[in-house]
Amino acid sequence: MSKVYFISSRADSRERNLTKYHRLLKNLDLGRIVSEGDLVAIKTSFGEQGNVTYLRPQYVRVVVEEVKRLGGRPFLTDANTLYAGGRQNSRDHMITALENGFGYEVTGAPIVIAGGLLGFDYRTVPVNGDHFSEAKIAPAALDADAIISVAHFKGHMICGFGGALKNLGMGFGARAGKQMMHSDVHPEVAADRCDGCARCYKWCPEKAIVMTPSAEGQAHKVAQIDDEACIGCGECVATCFTGAISISWKSDPAIVQQKMVEYAAAALHDKQSKFAALNFIIDVTPDCDCLGWSDNAIVPNIGVAASLDPVSIDAASLDLVNQVHGSAMSALDEAGMASPDKFGSVHKGIDATAQIRHGAKIGLGESHYDLVSLDKDDPERA
Ligand code: SF4
Ligand code: SF4
Repeated sequence: MSKVYFISSRADSRERNLTKYHRLLKNLDLGRIVSEGDLVAIKTSFGEQGNVTYLRPQYVRVVVEEVKRLGGRPFLTDANTLYAGGRQNSRDHMITALENGFGYEVTGAPIVIAGGLLGFDYRTVPVNGDHFSEAKIAPAALDADAIISVAHFKGHMICGFGGALKNLGMGFGARAGKQMMHSDVHPEVAADRCDGCARCYKWCPEKAIVMTPSAEGQAHKVAQIDDEACIGCGECVATCFTGAISISWKSDPAIVQQKMVEYAAAALHDKQSKFAALNFIIDVTPDCDCLGWSDNAIVPNIGVAASLDPVSIDAASLDLVNQVHGSAMSALDEAGMASPDKFGSVHKGIDATAQIRHGAKIGLGESHYDLVSLDKDDPERA
């Protein structure tokens, strides 16, 4: 059973937030994976333009400082996105990262965008999965001596939640790999729930949505999705306020999660002993940081988890979210606030545990974990 260390995000003058996160890393003993001179890829996400709840760069700095203390040479990295936006090519991605505060002067580490200018650079690595026997991985993941995933743990419209597994799998997949992971996602529009606002039409990064005259005699137009042009990013699902867009019966969100986990395994294929992960369970929004806005968090801030096992850390983080009462004035309704499946209450029909079960099945990690709370040292917060 893998250890998952946890420290709450409650803080005061006795121990400040960043000091607590340094303590968390000391307990994780990063020295087991970082050696003198190692090039250490700190895999994170720099957030999208307009999003305001992505991981704070000061949190990433804590990891950078620990890696440097151990003699490692850290760099921050992420691969370009499949969809249009502020991170589709390395030039725009770098600008987004800098505008969101991830400059060297804040984090203490340079940025290397993985996967080349347009995200077409990759190397093929073997993976023993149900869906893939090989994966197209951005070279920075493969060339680094060690990888530390630093993820913002939050909801996701296709995977239920995004944590370490998504940060690694979707995050290190090259453009072609991302297309293969998303190929099973097919959103559809329920015409009777569409009010013709065209928000999805304006937001769709691939222009895959057309507004067509309603066949049912409604006065307004309705959205229709061109399956050929759709890349399955799921952004329209989060954009539609009437709930008219959902993942269709042709899709199986569990398969996307399984494919993503197989990509995570491929990214770590020669580095399982040179890997660590941190999940910041803070600002747990219902959707991903790839959106250009941030809804209220669905649960109060919880804390930070750290582990050497990418499956255990996500399993523990999911449980920590589900164990607290949900927040009012969030995407959760009354029943959802009390539900033991917070992300499932927001993203109906998506079983977020599929990624954890598949990670355990393919041997990437363990779904059972031993949670070691570092707040126990502090009786007032235990
Ligand atoms: S966002 Fe929803 S309601 Fe608006 S046009 Fe698209 S499907 Fe219809
Ligand atoms: S999933 Fe939705 S937003 Fe994404 S490409 Fe397809 S239609 Fe457009």
